[in-house]
Amino acid sequence: MYTALRLQKKLRRELKAGKVEVIVVDPRSYMTYQPFLPEAAAGSVEPRHVVVPLRRVLKHCEILTGRVESLDHVRRVARVQPKRGEAYDLSY
Ligand SMILES: Cc1cc2nc3c(=O)[nH]c(=O)nc-3n(C[C@H](O)[C@H](O)[C@H](O)COP(=O)(O)OP(=O)(O)OC[C@H]3O[C@@H](n4cnc5c(N)ncnc54)[C@H](O)[C@@H]3O)c2cc1C
Repeated sequence: MYTALRLQKKLRRELKAGKVEVIVVDPRSYMTYQPFLPEAAAGSVEPRHVVVPLRRVLKHCEILTGRVESLDHVRRVARVQPKRGEAYDLSY
């Protein structure tokens, strides 16, 4: 999430002009602030306060819910297994 946030900031103009695309693939559509998990378990913070929905913070990125199964740096292709359906190749 932090890498995509940084890219989103650095490439703001290019993203708006449609010159580049930042795609985030993650089986979970949210980021967990792990250091706050003990507080969430103890009930001093609500569980919803320790997660950050990726689509809310990465407004100029495309979020794909799936698992990256492999990366082929020579062909520049990521093999993505979505939550439902067939795996597919995503070029980069
Ligand atoms: C209780 C607790 C307290 C902590 N306290 C601190 C602290 O005080 N200070 C500190 O510096 N660190 C702390 N940490 C450690 C810190 O939270 C982790 O080091 C940090 O979250 C790791 O970040 P990460 O991005 O490497 O991994 P993660 O935050 O685990 O993110 C990995 C992401 O990759 C995704 N993913 C996994 N497999 C795939 C795949 N095949 N394809 C696509 N996506 C995939 C996951 O869904 C996840 O979103 C704490 C951890 C815990 C559990």
